[in-house]
Formats: sequence, structure tokens, C-alpha cells
Amino acid sequence: MILVSGCLLGISCRYDGTSRPCENLQDFIRGQGPVVPVCPEQLGGLPTPRPPAALVGGDGFDVLAGRARVIRVRDGVDVTAAFLAGAKECVRLVKLLKLDRAVMKSRSPSCGLGRLTGVAAAALLMEGLDLIEI
Ligand code: SF4
Repeated sequence: MILVSGCLLGISCRYDGTSRPCENLQDFIRGQGPVVPVCPEQLGGLPTPRPPAALVGGDGFDVLAGRARVIRVRDGVDVTAAFLAGAKECVRLVKLLKLDRAVMKSRSPSCGLGRLTGVAAAALLMEGLDLIEI
């Protein structure tokens, strides 16, 4: 089984109510068994559509450590608690299903990896998951 960001699978869970289906996704999940779609932001209780948010003061690891926040871009409302809740639910799910790998959506304050790793991605990396970003 493999965890996959829901929007990559065509689920309309993005902040603007759209999805971001990935043509090459099959190349990444072939032979990995059943797919478990998740949207950390929805799991954290945020609505869809929702105002866009951004990491401020650090990356997802910093948010988990309390050194950075997640802030709504347009009005500055702090949505850190929802992002932390979503990351926690993702970790709960991977433990429950004994998952060890995930395909995550790039450039997301929840799912992204790399320069600004998202909150859920950071939590999954800390659990030892093997993550791929597309
Ligand atoms: S939180 Fe992740 S799964 Fe949900 S819309 Fe954003 S990138 Fe996609």
C-alpha cells in the first residue's frame, strides 16, 4: 500500500476546489499495491475550497517544533493548528495501515518536499517514510 496526496489522484481537495491529477503517477505507484488517498488539510478540518496558506518563519519541521507558523495569505489568520492536526492524522493513518512510502504533491505547505517541506511531509519523514514528490 502507498499513501498518495489526494489531489494527485484527481480528488478536488485543493484550496481552490480543484485537483491536480498527475499523468505520470502510474509510473510512481506501479507495483506498490493499493493506493491510500489523503489530503492533510482536509484531515485537519479545513474546508474545500479554502483560502490559500503559506509557511512563515520556516518549513514544516519548524512548524512541528513550534518555531514557525502557517498563515492564511490573504488575511493573516493563523491556521497552524489545522495543519498540525492534519499531519497528525496522516501519521496515525500510516501507523494504522503500516505504510512506509508516499507520493506527495510538490509546492504545498502540507505535502511539499525540498526547500520548503510541508507540515504533513515533515511529519511523515520523521516517521521514517520514504517520500517522493511530484
Ligand atoms: S494538502 Fe496535499 S493532498 Fe491536500 S490539496 Fe494540498 S497538496 Fe493536495
